[in-house]
Amino acid sequence: MSISEELFARAQELIPGGVNSPVRAFRSVGRSPFYTASAEGCRLRTVDGAELIDYVLTWGPAIFGHNDAEIRAAVSSAVERGLGFGTNGPAEVRMAELIRQCVPVVEKVRMTNSGTEATMSAVRLARGFTGRSKIVKFAGCFHGHVDSLLVKAGSGALTFGNPDSAGVTPGVAADTLVLEYNDAAGAEEIFAKFEEEIAAVILEPYPGNVGLLLPEPGFLEKLRELCTQHGAVLIFDEVMTGFRLSLQGTMGLHPVRPDLVCLGKIIGGGLPVGAFGGRADIMDRLAPLGPVYQAGTFCGHPVSLAAGIAALEKLLRDNPYPQLERAGRCIRDAVTTAAEEKGMPLRFHQCGSMFTFFFSEKPVRNYRAVLASDPEPFRKIFREALDAGVFLPPSPYESAFLSTAHDARAVEKTVEVLTAAIAKC
Ligand SMILES: *Cc1c(COP(=O)(O)O)cnc(C)c1O
Repeated sequence: MSISEELFARAQELIPGGVNSPVRAFRSVGRSPFYTASAEGCRLRTVDGAELIDYVLTWGPAIFGHNDAEIRAAVSSAVERGLGFGTNGPAEVRMAELIRQCVPVVEKVRMTNSGTEATMSAVRLARGFTGRSKIVKFAGCFHGHVDSLLVKAGSGALTFGNPDSAGVTPGVAADTLVLEYNDAAGAEEIFAKFEEEIAAVILEPYPGNVGLLLPEPGFLEKLRELCTQHGAVLIFDEVMTGFRLSLQGTMGLHPVRPDLVCLGKIIGGGLPVGAFGGRADIMDRLAPLGPVYQAGTFCGHPVSLAAGIAALEKLLRDNPYPQLERAGRCIRDAVTTAAEEKGMPLRFHQCGSMFTFFFSEKPVRNYRAVLASDPEPFRKIFREALDAGVFLPPSPYESAFLSTAHDARAVEKTVEVLTAAIAKC
């Protein structure tokens, strides 16, 4: 038994499923999970002594790779000043300035402890602002484990959502309307039917939690138009894409602007964080100015913010996005060519430092198509790659991430490993 296997056996006695977040159990790739001893740059070192080139990157935050020296120094000096204040601290003002400077539409911003808290609070705020109940979400878009957002199922454009998770009551789910991503006509129908009942439309503008999906021309524009026309709040959940695809998140790549935006992951520099912000007239409905309550013991925590500020200042200074795009394309081109040679129906979706590959004869434009794709080749490639020292996301339905620490040598090795794994399929 390896040390990882021994730890996982003990963990399963103590922690449900052995894990503190389900995907870490590796169930959808048919492997026992490894345990990480330490992480540096683009590599994880397991407790069994293996070195893995990491494409999970703590699920997105580590855009400079693991344990970045500048972020670590900022954290150390914050820790010297105290482990938390419970009062206001200067880092909160600096972080708000940085977010407003970079992210269009953010006039005011609130910090939370996680992306889940950000989306939960943004939805509550939208409901409080509009005085309406219903929200529209898109199948396959993940917004953390908020009750009203753990709803995705139901075929057809106008179905009421069924809860995805036990413990979410039908009453809560009934106010969540679910559409397929890229379904502009469905959005028109739903607004025609519910008109002035819809408080908000929330989506990942470039969904990254079903693998990576990309918006078709006119789709986001249609959502913007409908929300404006009917007085609903458009919420972009950019917890994953914010500061990853560009300094403006998806808004650096696409002209559509939401009313509110949710952030997390990268803005914590590796520590737990979230934020939501947007139009001042909406944000000012929050307590203590307005009637919508939102709070938190650790919100705006000085150590998380020190890490996040260091990360954002480094992104502003270095502009790593062209370099990340080149690395993403290099992997895309190599994997696409290998699959073509093998005659495999590969669909490689890549945007900057995010990528996913699906095995599907048809284009993958929504959640239904993701579920219809063949997960088996990915599972095989995952296992082959892991044995060869490359750690892809342990699920066919998660986006992979690149960091600036993935240097030419790491990318070259990854290309070798992935093309060999595809050849073996
Ligand atoms: C990760 C993620 C969340 C949840 O953030 P947590 O910090 O894990 O609560 C919400 N939305 C999106 C798009 C995410 O990728």
